[in-house]
Amino acid sequence: AFPASTVPQAPEDPLFGLMAAYKRDTSEKKVDLGIGAYRDDNAKPWVLPVVKKADDILRNDPNLNHEYLPIAGLPEFTSASQKLIFGSDSQAIKDGRVASIQAISGTGSLHLGALFLRKFYNPANPPSIYLSNPTWANHHQIFTNVSLQLAHYPYFSPQTRGLDFTGMLAAISAAPTGSIILLHACAHNPTGVDPTQAQWTQIADVMEQKGLFPFFDNAYQGFASGDLDRDAWAIRHFVARGFELLVAQSYAKNFGLYGERAGCFHYVAPATASAADASRVASQLAILQRSEISNPPAYGARIASTVLNNGALFAEWKENLTTMSGRLIGMRAELRGLLEKKGTPGTWNHVTDQIGMFSFTGLSEKQVGLLREKWHVYMTKNGRASVAGLNSRNVEYVAEAIDDVVR
Ligand code: PMP
Repeated sequence: AFPASTVPQAPEDPLFGLMAAYKRDTSEKKVDLGIGAYRDDNAKPWVLPVVKKADDILRNDPNLNHEYLPIAGLPEFTSASQKLIFGSDSQAIKDGRVASIQAISGTGSLHLGALFLRKFYNPANPPSIYLSNPTWANHHQIFTNVSLQLAHYPYFSPQTRGLDFTGMLAAISAAPTGSIILLHACAHNPTGVDPTQAQWTQIADVMEQKGLFPFFDNAYQGFASGDLDRDAWAIRHFVARGFELLVAQSYAKNFGLYGERAGCFHYVAPATASAADASRVASQLAILQRSEISNPPAYGARIASTVLNNGALFAEWKENLTTMSGRLIGMRAELRGLLEKKGTPGTWNHVTDQIGMFSFTGLSEKQVGLLREKWHVYMTKNGRASVAGLNSRNVEYVAEAIDDVVR
């Protein structure tokens, strides 16, 4: 018999546990700064107006059916995804050096990349993958699940609540040649702290000298700054320098397609390689895909593709992105301003220096606990607050709560 009795109880996912605790809380004042999903000023999920339009177009299409997509996904989706992240005039795309396959949002793209690396990157003696400390918690599981060894590089300085650039660079420099370095393309989760363009250039210098392999997690393009090109700068810089690299691309945040699981995984062959390399990689990705999911889900990719391939809708999408990123940037400014006005102990410039969905507040685990018990304000115990949970009606209350727990 299958020894199910030997299967240990796994702990609850901390983030989804937090969500459940928030739901159970009956206080009218409760504020959810936990899960990283955009909320509008009424604390409601927001269907992007451009997504509604694409949805209407699809629903009114008499030829729409529910057949399987090809193994590699919707071709017009993957080609538009390449252009979006690498730039429409990308030399790598023109050279045929990019192999792209539709995957299950960002998580599935990371997983497919992990699987691919484990199978083909020195399988007898696989390299370690270096994760930032801290990083999105799921990275640890995604890479250990395929038996890759994890290593870590410092990222966050608790003193400045900014980037520990010296520590990061030192650890990367010390990594053995061939190591994989996982990088957040923009809007680092959980810290909201990104390298500057000058710092990215230095990171690329070291990685080039040391022969390290970049794997970019791109979960927030356009959502971070509101500018798609700006948020893609780091990836495009590495590609322009001729690196061989991987990208996991998610459409959860920038299209608000969280549950539709639209994403794309890309392999870029080095500038010195030919299209043949990318095409062999594509053939192996298709084999992996077939055994994992056979073929990817269609609807989210159709929505994204409808927008990405239509000039007018694309322009409208950019406005929707500005609405989301603009609201978050505005909330950061308001929270910081309120805390500074109250004279809340400490400095609060990091709230506006950080970017994207999250602010790494610097609050201790104890303070986070107090926030939850006394004030019904929920954030993860490492002090990460989802800025999307703030709105014009609760930001003063949150500032009051933070002020109380840090005093
Ligand atoms: N990477 C990072 C850094 C993330 O923050 C997220 C979403 N929380 C993801 C990947 C993947 O998200 P999804 O699978 O929903 O696209």
